[in-house]
Amino acid sequence: MDFHFTPQEEAFRQEVRSFLAEHLPPADDREPETLARWNRALAEKRWIGFSWPREEGGGGGTLIQQFILKEEMSKADAPPLGSDFMGLQWVGPALIRHGKEDQKRRFLPDILASRTLWCTGYSEPAVGSDLASLQTRAERDGEEYVLNGSKIWTSAAHHAKWIFLLCRTSPEKESRYHGITCLLVSMQSPGIEVQPILTLTGNHTFNQTFFNDVRVPVNNRLGQEGEGWKVVMGALANERSGISESTEMERELEALKQLARRSRSGGRPALEDPSVRSEIARFETWISAMRLNGMRYLTNQLRGGHPSSETSVNKLMRGRIEIPMMELATRLLGNGAQEGGSWQERALTFHGTVIGGGTPNIQRNIIAQRILGLPKD
Ligand SMILES: Cc1cc2nc3c(=O)[nH]c(=O)nc-3n(C[C@H](O)[C@H](O)[C@H](O)COP(=O)(O)OP(=O)(O)OC[C@H]3O[C@@H](n4cnc5c(N)ncnc54)[C@H](O)[C@@H]3O)c2cc1C
Repeated sequence: MDFHFTPQEEAFRQEVRSFLAEHLPPADDREPETLARWNRALAEKRWIGFSWPREEGGGGGTLIQQFILKEEMSKADAPPLGSDFMGLQWVGPALIRHGKEDQKRRFLPDILASRTLWCTGYSEPAVGSDLASLQTRAERDGEEYVLNGSKIWTSAAHHAKWIFLLCRTSPEKESRYHGITCLLVSMQSPGIEVQPILTLTGNHTFNQTFFNDVRVPVNNRLGQEGEGWKVVMGALANERSGISESTEMERELEALKQLARRSRSGGRPALEDPSVRSEIARFETWISAMRLNGMRYLTNQLRGGHPSSETSVNKLMRGRIEIPMMELATRLLGNGAQEGGSWQERALTFHGTVIGGGTPNIQRNIIAQRILGLPKD
């Protein structure tokens, strides 16, 4: 296997570095106007949705170029590529793969321009890991579906304009994965109610979302009726791959190293303490393994495959190291850790990040059954 980048890819890396030198906003300025300016400059380069096909409004970049782009952005601690994380990471790719032409024309330009914000409606009060047991129902009434039920842990539903939603359109028959349909639902539809759920840190990121006789045009169905499971399997693989990008972890690790440089242990910088060095080295080794795994997914996609079960490996690895990384950070801060601040907030948030997109046990089940081919019972 050749781990080197081609001269063209290295030239692209230089192009990204030059762009950053010219356009990167200062680290302490993340005001909305600054971010809007940043997003406009990125959009001109077509670097938002860079690996989407040009005919879908993307940049037509290769997956390796996109990887380089994200790596350089992360090293520079740049703001995200576009502000609609869910739209860009899994709704857009699902539309490109399963959408009809008119659906692509309707939704993709707004996702690329961050004009819409998407949220995701999978989990329900009694249904999380076992997603195929979902109870939200849609019944066909002429050219509309009538949607009833409730979704929970709907991140960003209070800001979102659209929800990417799974519901049951016919009873479980021979397979419980059949009869589930994916609908694209406007959050402005009459009959939708969003109730906030506060997190451990007191922030409002989650919601419970209720659907009471919400009418959804049949034309907002993504994929065939009853075949939403196929749509969502690809979307979940993309979600897991987005959650566990090694570039994000490299950024966390760099911040942790800086913290260890600034902190004192036994009268010396903590980074000189052998036990701290050994912990950081362990994180670095895991993150390098995640990076190589990420390259493996990309290689598979370059050969014509789609993101699939293999993304569960990095999702699981992220869960394994992120909490110990935050524990080291709070230890380094010592009494300062009680004063609040971003490390403390992240230390409380990461337990949730480990669960979002599927718990570690569920990733282990996927790896065991779909990658290693182990029996189910
Ligand atoms: C930060 C965050 C963001 C989220 N955002 C969204 C969102 O935007 N939209 C959305 O729809 N949902 C969202 N969720 C919900 C998330 O997808 C679910 O919490 C997750 O899938 C687990 O479901 P659950 O909470 O019902 O737990 P359960 O499924 O009840 O699991 C409880 C425990 O049982 C274990 N378990 C369950 N089944 C098995 C099994 N078969 N084998 C082994 N162990 C098992 C689990 O690992 C876990 O430890 C979010 C969650 C978090 C934390």
